[in-house]
Amino acid sequence: MVKLEKSLHIVEKITQIIINLFILAPLITFFLAGLGSYLANGGDFFLWIAAIPVYVWIILIIISISILIFKRKQEVDISKHDLQERYSYSPDTEILCQAEYGTYTAANVPYDGILWHIKALNNPSLEMLRGIDKYDSLLIEIPPKCPVCKSDLFERLSFWGGFLWECKRCRFKKRTSLPFLIAASHALAVAKSKIRDDLEKKDKKHLKVG
Ligand SMILES: [Zn+2]
Repeated sequence: MVKLEKSLHIVEKITQIIINLFILAPLITFFLAGLGSYLANGGDFFLWIAAIPVYVWIILIIISISILIFKRKQEVDISKHDLQERYSYSPDTEILCQAEYGTYTAANVPYDGILWHIKALNNPSLEMLRGIDKYDSLLIEIPPKCPVCKSDLFERLSFWGGFLWECKRCRFKKRTSLPFLIAASHALAVAKSKIRDDLEKKDKKHLKVG
């Protein structure tokens, strides 16, 4: 069984190398013909290249582009069929461990045109133990929500690069260069900063009233 897996792996690697050679065929032809011509014709790099008919170049380029399109389409299709996981993110690993004991939604924050659930720890002793500010122990939930119908968004690769976030209910779509996780880290930083400002404003009011 292990031998079969190894053999399949080797076949897959060889197939990949052949596919990549086809993608690079126009460049390989250019340099091999150029090098051959340079050595055979006393330093004339372009003599053999010029002798190759235009239709050969066109065929090589069409094959190369077709394989590139096919490969990209395959990657996009695979990403469409990935199962989506739900998880919370914080840059602090200790807070991530504490989140296993439970969290609750503390705020819904719009960022970059979509809605993000900001979570707070159920266990408030962490702030006491580490002396960190309450807003610094917040987490963010992935996936984010659709701004129109508040359903979970799904992420997949976009054909032309980057990602496409889409809502399966209302078909809301957003193209982005960032995956959920990186966008979430930005959204969390912005949310923490906003919540800190709100808390400071409230404290000032209390002081004035006091
Ligand atoms: Zn929606």
